[in-house]
Amino acid sequence: MTSDLVHHGESFDDVPLGFATKSIHLGNGVDAETGAIRRPITLANAYALPYDPSDINWSSSDVNLYTRNGHPNQRYLEAKLANLEGTEDAVVLASGVAALAATFTTLLNRGDHAIFSDTTYIAAYRLLNQILPEKYGIETSIVDTSDPQNIAKAIRPNTKLIHIETPANPTLKVTDIEAAARLAHEAGALLSVDNTFNSPFNVRPAELGADVVIESLTKYINGHGDALGGAIACAKELTDRIRFTYQVNYGGIISPFNAWLINRGSVTLPLRMRQHNASALAIARHLESLPQVRFVAYPGLESHPGHDVAVRQLARPDAGFGGVLSFGLDTDHDGHNRFVSKLNVITSAVSLGHDESLIVFLGEDDERQYLYPPEFHRGFFRLAVGLEDTDDLIRDIDHALAEAGL
Ligand SMILES: *Cc1c(COP(=O)(O)O)cnc(C)c1O
Repeated sequence: MTSDLVHHGESFDDVPLGFATKSIHLGNGVDAETGAIRRPITLANAYALPYDPSDINWSSSDVNLYTRNGHPNQRYLEAKLANLEGTEDAVVLASGVAALAATFTTLLNRGDHAIFSDTTYIAAYRLLNQILPEKYGIETSIVDTSDPQNIAKAIRPNTKLIHIETPANPTLKVTDIEAAARLAHEAGALLSVDNTFNSPFNVRPAELGADVVIESLTKYINGHGDALGGAIACAKELTDRIRFTYQVNYGGIISPFNAWLINRGSVTLPLRMRQHNASALAIARHLESLPQVRFVAYPGLESHPGHDVAVRQLARPDAGFGGVLSFGLDTDHDGHNRFVSKLNVITSAVSLGHDESLIVFLGEDDERQYLYPPEFHRGFFRLAVGLEDTDDLIRDIDHALAEAGL
C-alpha cells in the first residue's frame, strides 16, 4: 500500500538519494483530485465501502475503511520514516508512549522475560517494571546495559526482548547497540531501541542490528513542539502484528492532523539536527568550564564514559550527539529554582527537540533515583538545547548564574 504513496523513488539513476532529499520528498506527492503538490489532510472517520463489502476483514489496516484501522496521512508519514530509519516498514501511533506500549504488548506474552536499560523514559520503566509483570505475568530485569556483560548475565531461557534507550533520558547513559543486538540474537530474542534522543539523522539502530526502532515523534522528528506522535520502525511481519493487535484493538491511532504536522516538521530534520548537535556540544563544553557546575553529562564530551561508543554508532560523518544534556549545579534546592527564574531565553518546561530551548529540574524525588549515578542524586537539570543562537543561550546561562548569586 505504501509504495504507491511515495511520489519520488529511493534512488536516482541507481544512486541512492541523500537523507535531506528523502526528508523532503518521501511521503509527499501530488493530490490526484486537485493537483496540489502537498498532500491534503484527510479528515474523515470512515471511507466508502465497495458494492459488495462482505469479504472485507474489519480488522484490516491496508484498505481505507475506518480511521482507527489506518489512514492516508498516517501512511505517508510511515513511508518516509521507514526509509529514513532503514527498515522495511513503520507504524505511526498517537505518542511515543503508545509506540512503547504497542511494542511491549505485541512482542511479550505471559511467561516471557524482558531485559531493559536501568535508565529509560519513565513510562517504559513503569510498563516494564510494574504494569506488565503485575497485570500480564511477564518477567522483567532492570540491567545497566552500558556494560554488555550485564546483559549477557541477565539472559534467561525465556528472554524474548531486550529494550534499550540510548542515550538514556535523563542521565544520557550510552549503550552499545551492536553488542546488545548480538546478545539478543544469540539468545533468540529481539532488540528494541528507543532512538528518540538521536533521531535517525544521528544514529540508525537498524543498521547496527536492532530489530525494532522506537521514536517519540513529538521530539526531534516533528521538531516544533506542537504535536505528539510515536513510531515503531521494523520488519513488515511485525508492523502487521502491531496494527492488527495494538492499533485496532487498543486504539492509540494518531490523528490525521498530527500526522500531517509531523510530516511537515520532519522536512527540516537534517538542518535542525546539525544545529542542535553543534549548539549542545558548545554549551556542554562551556558548562564544563564553569566552577559552579558540579558535572555535565553529554555523550559528545570526551569526559563522558560512553563517548567512544557514541562516536562509533554515528550514522554519518556530519552526525552528532543530539541536543539534550544534563548538568548539576553546586547549590541547594532554592538555588536551583533561583537560577531557572533568572533565565530569559531558555524556557522552564518539560519535553525536548523543540525549536526553543527547554530546561527542567529533576532528580530530587524521582522514583528511579536509586538507579542513577551518585552525582545525579542531589538534583540536576535536563537542558534540551533548541535552535536559538548559541551565543544567546550561553549568555542566558551565565547571566542567570550571576543574577542568582551562584
Ligand atoms: C518523550 C519520550 C518518550 C515518550 O514520548 P511521548 O511522545 O511523549 O509519548 C519516549 N522515549 C523518550 C526517550 C522520550 O524522550
